[in-house]
Amino acid sequence: MTESRTWARNLAYAAHEVRHPQTLAELSDVVRTAPRVRALGTRHSFNDVADTTGTHVVLDRLDDGRAPVEVDRAAMTASVAAGLRYGEVSLALHAEGVALGAMASLPHISVAGAVATATHGSGDAEANLAAAVAGLEIMTDDGEHRLLGRDHPDLPGAVVSLGALGVVTRVLLDVVPTYAVRQNVYLGLGWDTLAASFDAVTASATSVSLFTRWGDGGVDQVWQKQAVGRSDAPAPEEYLGARAAVSAMHPLPGVDAAACTAQLGVPGPWNERLPHFRLDHTPSNGEELQSEFLLPRRHAVAAIEAMRGLAPVIRPLLQVTEIRTVAADRLWMSTANADAAGADGVVGFHFTWNPAQAEVEAVLPRIERALAPFDARPHWGKVFTEDVRDVVGRYPRFGDFRALAERYDPAGRFRGGYVEAMLG
Ligand SMILES: Cc1cc2nc3c(=O)[nH]c(=O)nc-3n(C[C@H](O)[C@H](O)[C@H](O)COP(=O)(O)OP(=O)(O)OC[C@H]3O[C@@H](n4cnc5c(N)ncnc54)[C@H](O)[C@@H]3O)c2cc1C
Repeated sequence: MTESRTWARNLAYAAHEVRHPQTLAELSDVVRTAPRVRALGTRHSFNDVADTTGTHVVLDRLDDGRAPVEVDRAAMTASVAAGLRYGEVSLALHAEGVALGAMASLPHISVAGAVATATHGSGDAEANLAAAVAGLEIMTDDGEHRLLGRDHPDLPGAVVSLGALGVVTRVLLDVVPTYAVRQNVYLGLGWDTLAASFDAVTASATSVSLFTRWGDGGVDQVWQKQAVGRSDAPAPEEYLGARAAVSAMHPLPGVDAAACTAQLGVPGPWNERLPHFRLDHTPSNGEELQSEFLLPRRHAVAAIEAMRGLAPVIRPLLQVTEIRTVAADRLWMSTANADAAGADGVVGFHFTWNPAQAEVEAVLPRIERALAPFDARPHWGKVFTEDVRDVVGRYPRFGDFRALAERYDPAGRFRGGYVEAMLG
């Protein structure tokens, strides 16, 4: 029995063994013969999305005979080994003069694990990380290595897979020419100002994050990440009444900003500014749980009001909330799927909680009920309490996804955790 836990240590996986195949042949053997099997990334999810009662497969030692990151500058794509962390991929891409359009708040997560759960950053025009996927190589239950190219009809269903289709070994990502970003933080944006100017605030930079503890003062910190060249006007001392921070800030009150990417308007490479946290530091707090709910952005202001109404029950357990926007995409199980959310994309309400699972799970139903009128859907990798069979009712292509999972994995060996209940 191997004990393996989530990064937050809030859940011990039920898997009875963890395998680290070094070749595709070895991976094929495991996938064909294990009674139940599931890929595990860097374990940064906070729930049992990655769980199995059988064998966990981790790709950190897999050598498929190719370079871990292969850039095709003519096609503007990069083929990357699925088990690499975004931080490692982004360093290689930047060295080749290319970049990704978006990154999550942390660069520590694996590419395959992040895209499988529709992990996202922030930005009105920035879609989630899965939307940059132009192809997948995936080992299915028969040990066959399938290639799903950009035009393959299964690709829109197979990218946000929740690990249910097989083990992804490589991911083809669309890239853009490398660019620089500068990051500025503003302190103290009033609730009334935000309500009157929500669209302007989220459009004020390439990527905008609003951090709040739901106090009467409003948003505590506005993080603006601006691609250099989009607007090179110097950052003003004040933004809608919020004052520019004069020293680097951590999103969590009172925590040293050493773990954060450079702020104060200093331009730097995209991969050293888009994530909030540095690859060589612990992201966020380390002692925490996370939840997030994404809903059509047209409901943003009403949903903020609903959350303010719950401040007395949220605040005692809360480290910080982050509000951010994500552009719509066409991926069937993406939280920003355009058919579910509308063409304007989604707004996410993220909660970094104290590591108090039972207390958090007691408060979450109140948040879920308050956000239900706005068609909110939980982040696949974070803590939620709503029955997942109800959640999938808000995904118009769920029936197609289930059919895809049945076709790729007829015996259901790749199911586990809540994904088993969802597909079962
Ligand atoms: C500190 C912190 C900050 C975070 N910030 C953000 C953020 O800014 N934005 C956001 O959206 N999320 C964020 N998250 C959540 C995180 O991005 C997701 O939970 C993501 O899935 C983690 O990737 P992972 O590699 O750890 O995946 P895991 O948790 O290991 O696995 C997640 C899923 O991916 C599947 N999977 C993994 N590898 C493969 C593979 N090779 N083939 C097929 N399926 C695979 C697993 O089976 C599982 O279903 C954060 C989490 C933490 C801990």
